Amino acid sequence: MNRFSMTRPTEVAEAVREASGGGAVKFIAGGTNLVDLMKYNVERPTRLVDVSRLPGLDRIEETAEGGLRIGALVSNSALAYDPRVAERYPLLSSTILAGASPQLRNAASTGGNLLQRTRCYYFYDTGTPCNKREPGTGCPAIGGLNRIHAILGTSEHCIATHPSDMCVALAALEATVHVTGAGGDRAIPMAEFHRLPGDTPERDTELRADEIVTAVELPPEGFAKHYTYLKLRDRLSYAFALVSVAAALEMDGDRVKRARVALGGVAHKPWRDTAAEALLEGQPATAENFAAVADHILRDARGYEHNGFKIDLARRAVIRALGQAAAGTPQSQTDKRIQ
Ligand code: SF4
Repeated sequence: MNRFSMTRPTEVAEAVREASGGGAVKFIAGGTNLVDLMKYNVERPTRLVDVSRLPGLDRIEETAEGGLRIGALVSNSALAYDPRVAERYPLLSSTILAGASPQLRNAASTGGNLLQRTRCYYFYDTGTPCNKREPGTGCPAIGGLNRIHAILGTSEHCIATHPSDMCVALAALEATVHVTGAGGDRAIPMAEFHRLPGDTPERDTELRADEIVTAVELPPEGFAKHYTYLKLRDRLSYAFALVSVAAALEMDGDRVKRARVALGGVAHKPWRDTAAEALLEGQPATAENFAAVADHILRDARGYEHNGFKIDLARRAVIRALGQAAAGTPQSQTDKRIQ
């Protein structure tokens, strides 16, 4: 680990000024990902800006529109168990409880969850090249071990996946990410916050270097009656998704009025396909119609040597998740056996 200095600003504006001051600056809150990355020498900041005590970012508040504004420093545990979230946005609670461990969820922040980095083996191994860690050095995952890697939206430069569960729900719920920086405040729709790798895989998000996430805003619609988060992984707890599906439906009897489907573990960002979702509108909630949605989502999926199985796994996961959501029988995150 390299030597670094650390400051603890007491105002958001002060934190932004710290980040604008040049050098390799990183914000740290819970540190559940960044500290590991520093220990592995993947991240080598010269200055750490500890934002964990900034005032006003640890609250969940009602918005004038009837949604919720979640401060960036709200812990994953506090968010998952907040009664308003559990009741009105159970999909969000479910995704958080599907991830990590209770100890990590107690420390991890909402803003940090958005910014966690891929768990690609090569990214963490500084003895290997990696375009995300060192642009232009190559992507050994493409011809190497790629069982956990992406099947959608990949590029010749990177096939990493985004590891978050929470972000999959935020994509399905159409959340908005609020950020502030030297250039002022910005509101970024969740669908545009994370990036595909393209030819700049070193950039995970649209966040600028001097910007800090201040809040995540949920719209009023929480799809609390018909939702599920189905997470498929190598073991039943404390593992990242091979494939996950957040499904949220508005039903009219046995017909689907509106559908949201977001996938995790398959791309560099939570994967949504609004054209596929539209196929369900006004249609009966049948396995055949769910399969059509899955096939549309996966029409351009591409497997590599070890992860081709993900394409069929994702297809079946979408069908099952939509079935769970339509029936109002969400996947339990306590008894994790697939229902
Ligand atoms: Fe690096 Fe991305 Fe390739 Fe992994 S998939 S080795 S993160 S460039």
